[in-house]
Amino acid sequence: MAMHHPIIHKPGSFPVPPNIADHEAMRRSFGWEEIERELDWLPGGGLNIAHEAIDRHCAQGRADKPAMLWEGKDGERERYTYDDMRRQTNRFANVLAGLGVAKGERVFTFMERVPEIYFTFFGALKAGCVIGPLFSAFGPDPVRDRLENSGATVLVTQPALRKKIAAILPQLPALKHVIVVNRDGRSKEPLAEGDLDFGELMAAASDELAPLSTTRDDYSVMHYTSGTTGKPKGAVHRHNSVIQQYATGKWCLDLHPDDIYWCTADPGWVTGTSYGMIAPWTNGVTQVVYEGGFSARKWYEIVARYNVTVWYTAPTAVRMLMKSGADLPRSFDLSSLRFVASVGEPLNPEGVVWGQEAFGLPIHDNWWQTETGAILVANYASMDIRPGSMGKPIPGVEVGIIDAEGNELPAGENGILAVRPPWPGMFQAYWNDQERYDSRFQNGWYLTGDEASRDEDGYFWFVGRSDDVINTAGHLVGPFEVESALIEHPAVAEAGVIGKPDPIAMEVVKAFVSLKEGYEATDELRRELMRFAREKLSPAIAPREIEIIDSLPKTRSGKIMRRLLKARELGLPEGDTSTLEED
Ligand code: AMP
Repeated sequence: MAMHHPIIHKPGSFPVPPNIADHEAMRRSFGWEEIERELDWLPGGGLNIAHEAIDRHCAQGRADKPAMLWEGKDGERERYTYDDMRRQTNRFANVLAGLGVAKGERVFTFMERVPEIYFTFFGALKAGCVIGPLFSAFGPDPVRDRLENSGATVLVTQPALRKKIAAILPQLPALKHVIVVNRDGRSKEPLAEGDLDFGELMAAASDELAPLSTTRDDYSVMHYTSGTTGKPKGAVHRHNSVIQQYATGKWCLDLHPDDIYWCTADPGWVTGTSYGMIAPWTNGVTQVVYEGGFSARKWYEIVARYNVTVWYTAPTAVRMLMKSGADLPRSFDLSSLRFVASVGEPLNPEGVVWGQEAFGLPIHDNWWQTETGAILVANYASMDIRPGSMGKPIPGVEVGIIDAEGNELPAGENGILAVRPPWPGMFQAYWNDQERYDSRFQNGWYLTGDEASRDEDGYFWFVGRSDDVINTAGHLVGPFEVESALIEHPAVAEAGVIGKPDPIAMEVVKAFVSLKEGYEATDELRRELMRFAREKLSPAIAPREIEIIDSLPKTRSGKIMRRLLKARELGLPEGDTSTLEED
């Protein structure tokens, strides 16, 4: 954990006083009741994320405050107040009730970042359903796996995306309703038989809703996440998670009521819901949503046009901004920015420092994962930054570095990054996989799958993953999912997938495949395999490189040794190969 970069000292006073003035003091005295008291709760003690994020503000005199400033990829602009959000989400809850969709049913979205995804998300939560957003770049296979595993009964999608997955829909017997959002009639094609039109349903639904009836323990949001083995698992959260999402929006993103906030993450990933929906709106801020993808110029334009004050993004994006140079940001007025944070992968110390050069602000790294529901380790506005460190644990939660037996390790030693359960945002299940859920808890700790260390002063430093999961541009990719897709190609006998270090995306997916008899290792076949994987999976998780080899190294029990493939790829010692199959 060599510290090459000097500590960035924070000043004693700030133009906007940080929500946490003294992190250490607060950790010593804090109890979650303090935050629970700041939420509204439902009459009778219930809790509902949508109520806390939207309706509460309307009831407290903020109905006309803008909640969402939306910019479409073709430059369209729309503005929604908290009251607009309340009425639209009420409508969607009524749509679900009208279709006979009951509490606890799984409603999934497969959409771009259009306003309707936000109406659907919170409308489903008001209806007591479990909402599962899917990344719009997915191909048919990941969509089928997730809808099948979750037993989703409703899918809300858009015409072009529906077309992309048309072939898998008949394979989903549990799916009762496909609702299509045809924004402004952009698509001229008629609805497929049996599909429902989002606009028509919404127009026919009332914008007033019967009182909500969820409790803090009811399931709310589910996101699929990759593990070492098997297909991705649906991590399920409770309405209770709103407590930590609200708190960390306030503490770790330092959200104040007057902020204009922009989170660049897609709702298909957990950051896009916990911090692209729930944290900002429970904190009552105005949030910018940009439908389009990355472009350095466009992103600076958005910050400048909307006077963004708090910006939450990812290290890959920071590295891409760095690549586009420090002159570009200087040609925009970015003086509205007050706080910049990032999550999803390690943020290089150079990235932290570059923020100072480009915006006059360091970038605040923080750490969490799908299963934790909300930020657990962070660099706070008032706390000195050690570039390269993820920061310190939030108040109210114990985070430790432990060995395999669950003993805490002293400062400076690398170990398993673990969290003491429970915490408010903690996931409650992997859908239909109790065994895997239980396997994440050992010796009184939740094991995160990451390795890290802590220094003498309590700052945490990320070391790496303790499993084969690949982190490409902040997206976790389970090698098994990619291998499964590749072996569906008629030429492929076996596949082994690893993460290969990359200067921008941290890792890119690399696949090794062996071929079936009668196939030849040509460049054309390699390209064909890349295309095949991209279409089936998504350009985001498909291999960037495919190498054809004679046979893959396997254990005696027949498991492909990805670690060995990786060691060979990197030219590293191959380690313990005693379980390697003999030829
Ligand atoms: P996900 O569940 O998809 O949000 O991915 C969570 C994983 O991303 C963590 O377990 C880490 O491996 C990685 N990650 C997230 N934030 C950070 C960070 N600040 N530094 C290093 N790795 C991170």
